Amino acid sequence: MSQGHEKHQQRLEQLSFLGKTLVRRSGAKCELCSHAHGTLYSIEIPPVPELPSEDHTLFLCESCKDVVETSKLNPQEMHYLEEVIWSDLPVLQVTAVRLCRRLRDKGEAWAAELLDTVYLSPEVEEWLSS
Ligand SMILES: [Zn+2]
Repeated sequence: MSQGHEKHQQRLEQLSFLGKTLVRRSGAKCELCSHAHGTLYSIEIPPVPELPSEDHTLFLCESCKDVVETSKLNPQEMHYLEEVIWSDLPVLQVTAVRLCRRLRDKGEAWAAELLDTVYLSPEVEEWLSS
């Protein structure tokens, strides 16, 4: 087994310890779109700390996982951002702002408006600029 693979496996194991905390925090729902059916995944939001932490991890459904991890966007299905962008959970707000910026860059006017109105805490501002 390669060292990279071993590291990856180790990380996944550490991440799985966060599962219970994330289930409790999210109410077993996707933290972006609130879907409660299907598998939910622990997704780390960069920049990731040395050890996995729930403060840098979101609990997401398959479709939101895809949107966060790839360049795929489904603008019509992403209006949940109008709510979650106001979250007081920094990792969730950071992710919502990043997604809104991507939507804005694709010409979605509602995402641009949202970015103009949202208040970001200094912690979130700092995270976004890192
Ligand atoms: Zn979702």
